[in-house]
Amino acid sequence: MRKHNFSAGPAILPQEVIQGAAKAVLELDNIGLSLIEISHRSNEFKAIMEEACSLSLQLLGLEGKGYRAMFLQGGASLQFLMSAYNLLEKKAGYINSGTWSTKAIKEAKLLGEVVEIASSKDGNFNHIPKGFKISNDLDYIHLTTNNTIFGTQYKSLPDTEVPLVADMSSDIFSRSFDYSKFDLFYAGAQKNLGPSGVTLVVIKESSFNKVSRVIPSMLNYQVQSDAGSMFNTPPVFPVYTVLLNLRWIVKNGGLEGVGLENEKKAALIYNEIDRNPLFEGFAHADDRSNMNATYNLKDNQHAVVFDTLWNEANISGLKGHRSVGGYRASIYNAMPIESIQVLVDCMQEFERKA
Ligand SMILES: *Cc1c(COP(=O)(O)O)cnc(C)c1O
Repeated sequence: MRKHNFSAGPAILPQEVIQGAAKAVLELDNIGLSLIEISHRSNEFKAIMEEACSLSLQLLGLEGKGYRAMFLQGGASLQFLMSAYNLLEKKAGYINSGTWSTKAIKEAKLLGEVVEIASSKDGNFNHIPKGFKISNDLDYIHLTTNNTIFGTQYKSLPDTEVPLVADMSSDIFSRSFDYSKFDLFYAGAQKNLGPSGVTLVVIKESSFNKVSRVIPSMLNYQVQSDAGSMFNTPPVFPVYTVLLNLRWIVKNGGLEGVGLENEKKAALIYNEIDRNPLFEGFAHADDRSNMNATYNLKDNQHAVVFDTLWNEANISGLKGHRSVGGYRASIYNAMPIESIQVLVDCMQEFERKA
């Protein structure tokens, strides 16, 4: 029996996407070969890669606006380094909103001067930093749009002329937004986009050739993009599965459609967290993530009772990250609202029992 999968990542994907991917492993589109045994330079795979790139830009509203999409390896973690390699000439500003931002800062420091222009570390990252000054002498500002571990998400962006760079690993394709506000953004696929093993990078062409250092080919956005994401052998299975998921998003109303559904889903879980006297939300209400809802028990004494309830309800992956404790309901695009209702029912049953 399928579980209700609240895992933070690798995470839930639509059933039809998983079935389509499984089918293609056996045989791709009646060509007499498996997806994972054809050349990445075959016409079949080239078409897959091209559609994945163009559909990404189309969904993000960036088609014909001077942007390129590419699929790389090394996860968001390599992008922490690669973004700085390509864009950091003198000085960059970083907003520290959690564990992943902290890691991005550490890597960027290898390449140049990094100013932590704001941080929410004092509150154990339970909010998005706001109300800080931004100087204009920065090469770019880096931020993390959704903080997977702490359950916070930017609802609006800092007001600045400085180019914005973002790690969108856990909320890419989750909402409609003016993505042209960013010069560069990236997302490891395994949260809201596909299986692990591939990272989507979207970059404005004007961001090429921004630095004087020599950039190794594998780390050079222009080299990777000019090679059509095939400077080296791309991970064909994750790219294909991402493409199936992008098509699924189109079928479900694009970013507007999934965004509205995500709002409804988030409201369902947060309303229960706020209503139920036994729980408290972790993140500041204004900054709550629509992708990862973090919450704790007010009194941990009854944890076993609640844990037994949701385990028996066939729920999986609800345990919070060790740095927050409690619970984290990751409710990405593919999470059906019915599964969130099952969790809410457990929380109400717990209230009656405890
Ligand atoms: C999971 C995650 C990462 C790390 O991704 P990898 O693909 O494992 O490198 C980085 N940033 C955010 C926001 C994440 O959620």
